[in-house]
Amino acid sequence: MISVVVVSHSRALADAAVALAAQMAPGPDGPRVEVAAGLDDGTLGTDAAAVAAAIQRGDEASGHEGVLVLMDLGSAVLSAELALELLGPEVAGRVRLSPAPLLEGLVVAVVSARSGRDLGEVAAEAAGGLGPKTAHLLPDDGAGPCPEEPSVAGPTTSPHRVDAVELEVRGPHGLHARPAARLVACAAEVAPQTIVRVRNLTSGRGPVDALSLSRVATLDARQGHLLLAEASGPRAREVLESLTELARDGFGDLPRSGAVAEAAAVVDTTGGGVAGSGLDAAVGPVLRLDARLDGHGIPAGSVAEERVRWREALREAGERLDQLAEQARRQLGDPAAEVFEAHATLLRDPELARDVSRRLVEGQSAATAWAETVEATAAWFDQLADPYQRERAHDVRAAGERVLRLIVGAPEPESLGEGILVVEELDPGLAISLDPRAVRGVITWHGGETGHGVLIAVSRGVPVLTGEEALRDVPAGTTVAFDGRSRTVEVDPGEEVLTAFEELLDHRRRERDLALETSATPVVTTDGVPLRVRANVSSLAMARLAAQMGAQGAGLVRTEAVFGHCLQAPSVDEQAQVYGEIAAALAPHPVAIRTWDVGGDKPLPFMPTVVEANPFLGTRGLRAFVHDPRLLLDQLEAICRVAAHAEVQVLFPMVTTRSDVDLALTLLREAATRAGGDGLPPLLEVGIMIEVPAAALNVSALTEGLDLVSIGSNDLSQYALAADRGNGDLAAWSDPLEPAVLRLVRATCEGVPAGMPVGLCGALAGEPGLAGLLAGLGVSQLSAVPAAVPLVKERLRAGSMAGFREIAERALDCPDAASVRALLGQHADARRRESVSARPAGGTAR
Ligand code: PEP
Ligand code: MG
Repeated sequence: MISVVVVSHSRALADAAVALAAQMAPGPDGPRVEVAAGLDDGTLGTDAAAVAAAIQRGDEASGHEGVLVLMDLGSAVLSAELALELLGPEVAGRVRLSPAPLLEGLVVAVVSARSGRDLGEVAAEAAGGLGPKTAHLLPDDGAGPCPEEPSVAGPTTSPHRVDAVELEVRGPHGLHARPAARLVACAAEVAPQTIVRVRNLTSGRGPVDALSLSRVATLDARQGHLLLAEASGPRAREVLESLTELARDGFGDLPRSGAVAEAAAVVDTTGGGVAGSGLDAAVGPVLRLDARLDGHGIPAGSVAEERVRWREALREAGERLDQLAEQARRQLGDPAAEVFEAHATLLRDPELARDVSRRLVEGQSAATAWAETVEATAAWFDQLADPYQRERAHDVRAAGERVLRLIVGAPEPESLGEGILVVEELDPGLAISLDPRAVRGVITWHGGETGHGVLIAVSRGVPVLTGEEALRDVPAGTTVAFDGRSRTVEVDPGEEVLTAFEELLDHRRRERDLALETSATPVVTTDGVPLRVRANVSSLAMARLAAQMGAQGAGLVRTEAVFGHCLQAPSVDEQAQVYGEIAAALAPHPVAIRTWDVGGDKPLPFMPTVVEANPFLGTRGLRAFVHDPRLLLDQLEAICRVAAHAEVQVLFPMVTTRSDVDLALTLLREAATRAGGDGLPPLLEVGIMIEVPAAALNVSALTEGLDLVSIGSNDLSQYALAADRGNGDLAAWSDPLEPAVLRLVRATCEGVPAGMPVGLCGALAGEPGLAGLLAGLGVSQLSAVPAAVPLVKERLRAGSMAGFREIAERALDCPDAASVRALLGQHADARRRESVSARPAGGTAR
């Protein structure tokens, strides 16, 4: 006789159903009924491993005649399906999963099996178990008891139909983690009674369970793709309506006010911040988050023990992430909080849970099962086409790491003790969760990948050194000392070196405090030449910090970073508000607002990514708006509005030819008209960035009709030296102090019309030791990271322009960068950290 298995979220419900069925078919000669219901700890839920075990028992009791499985809702079905996978094809071949409602199906199955019918017959009768009730209550309803083909946008939802809607993906980066998390949240509202599945009609991927963030995100749903959402259950219609609404809103792209909130986010200065910044060096014991946390080599207890260990870690990690989301919301605004919320959604992912369950049943420990599942999921993201979506693999690994630490009892990132954290990469989530009072510095061995994390850490007063591959395996507790300015790291230093570092730190503290005391004073060299030191800013908070540091305005407002978290383009009003606030923070000094600098290494969430063979030599900066200038026109209109009442400069990036300048001026005039002006606003000055060697060498032709130029030495070096600025392996070729680069700086200063100010806003400007050299080459305005402003000012005040010019002449005669650095008394490989932290901030829109 065949057996029956009951799969339910609730043990009580299953037992009651079995008792009721036994009453309908009393006597000892009924089929064996096995139950897999509820979770170990008495909570509601289903567990594939327990279902597999019940089926196995039923199969044996039936003498391998067959097993009919009846399930209640949602994940009960998914668990039963997974159980069949776990049991393998031989056993699965003797099992039928019944679409019948649990109670009616069970009663019919028990009666039918008792009369000796085979599996096929029992299954057919059970499937019709709802027939009598349907006939009684819905005599005119033609819908049968089994799910039908989806009815796209179907207007009716009976309990047995699968309804569906088509959804268009409108966000520029498709359905990446954050919008996908909103879709999951929407499906979770109606689960488990109503099941939602989603497929990508454009790419053919799916269907996937809408409760699984990892699976939804890997549908590779890109802008313009069409999805089909199918729902079955009592709230199918409701959930499809909500999803339609959500899709219309680009799956919940940031509300417009988010743009302003983010730009206004206050840099967290608790326990560090301003006071802790500017040292660029640290000494302390190594703190490790990993201690090679790969989850392997950990012996497994019983399946039940490992399951409890894993669930407990998941629960704790979820609670911690909720706290961190709250903290991030307070300190950095909604977009940062959403990073943690997306991590928490990942931890609740039923697909991950199923995979882990399967691995546990196979005998893996909770640590191994979790680590392997996380890695397999991250690998899915790794192979996605959209670079923005691909980066989300990092989120999966970060969320996974948190749980793994709890499983193996390793300390959380927030409770590491005092010292220098050595990690592979510094993601924004980790950067915000670090306690600057305890973590004196961070060293990463992958440089440049997650610039926003570095920027957050530095703004919180934590010095960061990136790309130190050699420290990858340094054990926890080892003493390490590093200096970010000279890029020197000492592992296990002797007494002498340690003392030298302590002295260096003391010296930096004194130097900083001294420079801070005089930071408000303007800069005039000892021979009476006035110079300006301004700041590069990427948010209103940084602008305020820059003002505190004595910056004489902003030499560069990186607007693509200011609005880098917005998935939807900020409106003219929103931009005008933010630019106005930045200008007010630095008034009466001017602020140089750079127009969207996109392309290459700078994706902008609200602009589609152009796929190019060579993005750094492609549609970057101003070039990106030649065919469709709408976003640029909006931005220029906002800038013109602000310039009606504040001193504003507009800077156009990546200008190469005169026709670029003409285009920029044409668009600017059009935007000024839109802003309601008669010609350009009186307080507006117009400038271009000099970042391309061709522009440096042809600057006199380019600057006709302009008011200023600003040298972007980061890009100018990368193009002059043909070395990707983000590639740590090319350090030997990418030193901006190569005399060839210095000659381009000199050519720019000599080529502009007499009296035109020449700024320099690349990372070089933040190295106090180079300030004199740059001034000597003819740069009249340096724009540095806010923390470096006081020292740069101090160095310029301390020297004479005659002396600076002499140094510059000698540097131009040097054969290479090393000789220039030797001339300046610097370490040959010195680099400023800003060249890394200035990289795009796009990685946090999740
Ligand atoms: C530069 O290229 O030097 C510059 C200041 O611009 P960014 O670093 O933002 O490309
Ligand atoms: Mg640049």
